[in-house]
Amino acid sequence: MALTAPAEAVGSLQPIVWHEPRGSYEVVIIGGGGHGLATAYYLATRHGITNVAVVEADYIASGNTGRNTTIIRANYAIPEAIRFYDHSMKLYEGLEAETGAAIFHRKKGHVWIAHSEMGMRTERGRVLMNQAMGVDTELLDPAGVKALVPQIDLTGGGRYPILGASHHVEAATARHDRVAWAYASGATNRGVHVIQHRTVTGLLRDGDRVVGVETAAGPIRAGVVLSAVGGRVSQLAGMARVRLPVRTHPLHAFVTNDFEQGLDKIVASTELACYVSQTERGQMLIGAEFDSQPSFSRISSFDALRSYAYKITALLPFLRSMRILRTWAGLCDISADFSPIMGDTGVDGLLITTGWGTWGFKAIPAGGEAMAERIATGRTPDLIAPFGLDRFRNELAMADQASAGTR
Ligand SMILES: Cc1cc2nc3c(=O)[nH]c(=O)nc-3n(C[C@H](O)[C@H](O)[C@H](O)COP(=O)(O)OP(=O)(O)OC[C@H]3O[C@@H](n4cnc5c(N)ncnc54)[C@H](O)[C@@H]3O)c2cc1C
Repeated sequence: MALTAPAEAVGSLQPIVWHEPRGSYEVVIIGGGGHGLATAYYLATRHGITNVAVVEADYIASGNTGRNTTIIRANYAIPEAIRFYDHSMKLYEGLEAETGAAIFHRKKGHVWIAHSEMGMRTERGRVLMNQAMGVDTELLDPAGVKALVPQIDLTGGGRYPILGASHHVEAATARHDRVAWAYASGATNRGVHVIQHRTVTGLLRDGDRVVGVETAAGPIRAGVVLSAVGGRVSQLAGMARVRLPVRTHPLHAFVTNDFEQGLDKIVASTELACYVSQTERGQMLIGAEFDSQPSFSRISSFDALRSYAYKITALLPFLRSMRILRTWAGLCDISADFSPIMGDTGVDGLLITTGWGTWGFKAIPAGGEAMAERIATGRTPDLIAPFGLDRFRNELAMADQASAGTR
């Protein structure tokens, strides 16, 4: 039996068709976040593989996909990452046309300010590397920063002077939950099953091979299992006795009350580990660094809130008159080199997409597309080949911490 969610509940999105789960599928994807849903969508649309189930412990986008600050950019500092995120950014640009779903994709530009000579050196290097890879990023002096962000205090409250910035022209934002729903509806309308409120509690084995998942409502067999479980990845990998170079850290964000539209750019400071953009509704959406202590807590602390608010108001004093409406946290799967991990796990039948940390929303289209290709063809696409788990064993880490934008 197929149940259809009412169209009006999702605006211009296509309704999602909910199916009764079966006992076995060609592909089972664990985790109904952006990466799991996008992989299912591209399996169906690019490869005609629809005998697929996405098994989600809670509701879709209940993890980091529905908790993030929605920044989409490609201004990374290493060629492999720039190439990957640039492709993702382009897929995002075409996503509304491809899926017919309104995801509120808006190009804004990302101004990454520097407060020290070392910070300027980092931004100069980023601009050169971006331009060499064909990505539109320019270097700004303080006057250039002021021209793009008139509200900014160039003295940083007398404490964090602004020496310049890089400006990544193509950076954008999009509504996070709509992205998840666009992929979910695109997939379910082609026959993919999205099974919500069902936690995977174990992996089925046949000798060394993973052949399905165990859930509270019984086993589901699968030809291939993909783990896309966000911050819960260590437990999931542990079920297959795989140890990953990943730790889970909470990351916080908050929004203020509405304000008339006027902050056109996404403004970020790596040195202060804070950033802000204005939402469609007019709220200021503010993010910061992840907690240094690994944990699975999604409780926001007043101390953290005070510290982010202090830094961001030093840069944009008009924020002082605003009220904080909501704060929340997500559980980020931070890899040892601050780059994602995609592909084989070394366990037959089990693939992984993880290490998305504080930066994986922008990667959802390209990550999903590449994982779908890996599953459908058995070959790892060139775009994600540098991001395999084996890089840690082969001393080919993709260190790019300064591009994570938080810590
Ligand atoms: C506050 C915050 C701000 C951020 N800002 C940005 C940003 O501006 N730009 C950016 O690019 N990235 C950002 N990120 C990071 C981004 O949100 C994540 O990297 C991305 O959403 C990861 O998607 P995912 O599908 O891998 O994981 P998730 O969206 O977390 O999905 C994983 C899903 O797996 C499910 N699951 C877990 N265990 C099981 C199980 N055993 N069985 C079944 N299901 C299970 C969970 O319930 C969850 O729904 C931010 C993150 C946070 C927390």
